[in-house]
Amino acid sequence: MRYAESGQFAGGTATQVDERIWAIDLGFQGWDQVIYAYLLASPDELVLIETGPTSTLPALQAGIAAAGFDPAALTKIFLTHIHLDHAGAVGVIAREQPDVTIFVHPIGAPHLIDPGKLVNSAGRLYTDRMDALWGEVAPAPAERVVSLADGETVEAAGHVLSVLFTPGHASHHIAYWDPDPGVVFTGDVAGVRMPGSGYALPPAPPPDLAPDEWAVSIDRLRQTGARRLYLTHGGGFDDVDAHLAQIMPNLDAVEAICRTAMLAGADDDEVAALLQAETEARIGPDGLAIPGMVERYGWASPSFLSALGFRRLLTRRGDVPAPPRPGR
Ligand SMILES: [Zn+2]
Repeated sequence: MRYAESGQFAGGTATQVDERIWAIDLGFQGWDQVIYAYLLASPDELVLIETGPTSTLPALQAGIAAAGFDPAALTKIFLTHIHLDHAGAVGVIAREQPDVTIFVHPIGAPHLIDPGKLVNSAGRLYTDRMDALWGEVAPAPAERVVSLADGETVEAAGHVLSVLFTPGHASHHIAYWDPDPGVVFTGDVAGVRMPGSGYALPPAPPPDLAPDEWAVSIDRLRQTGARRLYLTHGGGFDDVDAHLAQIMPNLDAVEAICRTAMLAGADDDEVAALLQAETEARIGPDGLAIPGMVERYGWASPSFLSALGFRRLLTRRGDVPAPPRPGR
């Protein structure tokens, strides 16, 4: 089973989580907490960190309105990375709103301007579910896509964000450090964690999963001294050190499960089932007692994606033999 059950939550709620920061719940696949976009507002600017996919664009716009702002007044979008659950709607928004500028890692920028390759590679993973999961993926106009440099600071609705290149989950991943409230918008580099569970799950999709780089990125996050992390998948968490300390051991555990199973000849579905069992064990009984917990983790980081991510990484490294291909 590749996908979790859908829920009933429509999304479009906005929760003020810090001074001039709102968490907008996109209600992805009918569940709360699975994908957030963060809204930063000042009298003359309205800024998003993440957009979510086009499939949740109505919820994003409803959430901006629920926070008390006009979605048409959006000025800037900062992306942590271009995976469709984080950035899929950016082209559609740019097409409809000519005043919006998009900020992204230089490796990600060309794929926003011409999303053909991005859509093709996502299509290999999601096949006939592409449209239901993500909706339209439109190109963004090149003149409104701005590449960020590591370490630079950028103005965002009265906030001054520091750009932290944080590869590992994706080569083009950025975390945004906002020193004034002392928070980091972590995208996926600080993993997935649902309230009510202590488990920080590192999502490990193909194609450029890189555990060694991920470890360096976690150190960078730790060095900020942040008091709170804002995860795209799960929301805000204040136990910053304990949370960050989990990520690499948890990724190592996932890698070990994959390596052992793949060396024993397991196929991708079998590996995914083992990773799903690991996730449920690590969520723990208190978390599992919360309705929808397994589904929320499943939608935020499907086990089959991490199985495919490690298959590619471990095969390339020569740690496990390449699986036989049909027709050979
Ligand atoms: Zn991602």
